[in-house]
Amino acid sequence: MTWIARIRSVAKPLLGPVLDYALPPRCPACGDIVSESGAFCGPCWQSIDYIGDPLCKVCGVTLPSQAMGDEAQCGACLADPPPFERARALMHYGEVGRTLARKLKYGRRVSLARVMAAQMQRLLALPGDADAILVPVPLHRWRIWSRGFNQAALIGRQLSRATGLPLETGLLRRTKNTPPLHSLGLRSRAKAVRGAFALAPEARARLAGKTAILIDDIWTTGSTASACARMLKGGGAARVEIICWTRVGEAGDRSPPD
Ligand SMILES: [Zn+2]
Ligand SMILES: [Zn+2]
Repeated sequence: MTWIARIRSVAKPLLGPVLDYALPPRCPACGDIVSESGAFCGPCWQSIDYIGDPLCKVCGVTLPSQAMGDEAQCGACLADPPPFERARALMHYGEVGRTLARKLKYGRRVSLARVMAAQMQRLLALPGDADAILVPVPLHRWRIWSRGFNQAALIGRQLSRATGLPLETGLLRRTKNTPPLHSLGLRSRAKAVRGAFALAPEARARLAGKTAILIDDIWTTGSTASACARMLKGGGAARVEIICWTRVGEAGDRSPPD
């Protein structure tokens, strides 16, 4: 560790803004010096596989052809409509997507939530008058005790600061501590999250007629997001949108997340 890195790690919690000014900003993925705080270095930026059109209007999966237009849906959504209106993720699950998600979650680099939220903001497609609330996918309280925070809530807080949309961290609760889902197949995942979520007693009053924007770091099969969306709809939300930092299972890296 260089002396600068050592000073950063020790002093940053106390002197964050001052050190951000005094020390050169670094690429949030690889740590190389960059010109602007929160920006990726050239090679990391180039390596990011951002998710773009053509996408299924509902679940956001990549579609084979642009010719189908903005209203096109994938076969799975047509056959079995999901319990949400729109799901989008920023990038395919590659090196940068994985590194930031892991550093935030396991490396306790909570400042990365701001970098991720700044980029995820573009996934929101809300009209100016939308009555929307931000709802992070909850963690079971045992996980929060062991980790100290919920990474989706940290991203949500930054999104709330940037957009002015209210953040609702208490509406949706995780009542079942599910096993790590990356070891399970699609069916087992759906089964593992069944009954894993519940609404707070005051949720109905707060959800009625609202657009609930569910926030998560990694989309794998959509089982967790669907289970949450079902609860929010059951609680009276008019519309549920989901935004995620990265999405596994299409182009790019296919190794399972953890
Ligand atoms: Zn970099
Ligand atoms: Zn779809």
